[in-house]
Amino acid sequence: MRSIIYYLREFLRPEWIRKFFFAKTAPLETPSYFKGYPTLTGNECTACLSCMMICPAPKAIAVLRTRDGWEPEIYPGHCIRCGLCVEACPEGVLSSGRILDVTRRDGTAFWSWYHLQVDDNLCMRCGNCCVSCPVNREIDPQLAGSGTSSSDEVIMRVEGGRVRILHEEKCTGCKTCETQCPNRAIRVARMVEGVQIGEAEV
Ligand code: SF4
Ligand code: SF4
Ligand code: SF4
Repeated sequence: MRSIIYYLREFLRPEWIRKFFFAKTAPLETPSYFKGYPTLTGNECTACLSCMMICPAPKAIAVLRTRDGWEPEIYPGHCIRCGLCVEACPEGVLSSGRILDVTRRDGTAFWSWYHLQVDDNLCMRCGNCCVSCPVNREIDPQLAGSGTSSSDEVIMRVEGGRVRILHEEKCTGCKTCETQCPNRAIRVARMVEGVQIGEAEV
């Protein structure tokens, strides 16, 4: 009983009540360096998908078709506000906190390319990857059904009994070859490197 009276006396002190109900705290302000959810700047999206490909959070961003073109959509429940999409977008379609100011000031950018790797143990030399690749077919419309080609300009061809990669730099990362390979022997990996603008081939 004594302890209840003690607590009541403590909690009903006028000074404490005044502080509890009338204390004025400064309004919360978002720090200028805080990375919020990416928002649209109004620049036109070219649907290059760089933002989607660099995003580390599953299902955080999707580039959707709209009536007037393309537009990235951010899903806040999945987005971890890392800001990588903002930095990666070559068109400045997205903004978040001061990321764009800082990357412009420091002249930084991302440079990305695709790396193709064929596992010779899994590959059965059917040539499906070479034939299904849209870039390969455009370069050599006469590409044989077996994946061989007389052109040295194709991305890859069946040569000497194995798939040989000739021009990895022409790969657009569509992953058609990956999906058409019956043995999942070919892998397409997107490589990303941070560079100073000027070195960047974007
Ligand atoms: S801020 Fe990061 S997590 Fe969010 S959509 Fe962009 S890349 Fe993905
Ligand atoms: S990186 Fe930029 S231009 Fe490319 S799809 Fe995403 S928002 Fe559009
Ligand atoms: S990812 Fe697309 S462009 Fe690149 S090699 Fe495969 S099919 Fe060709």
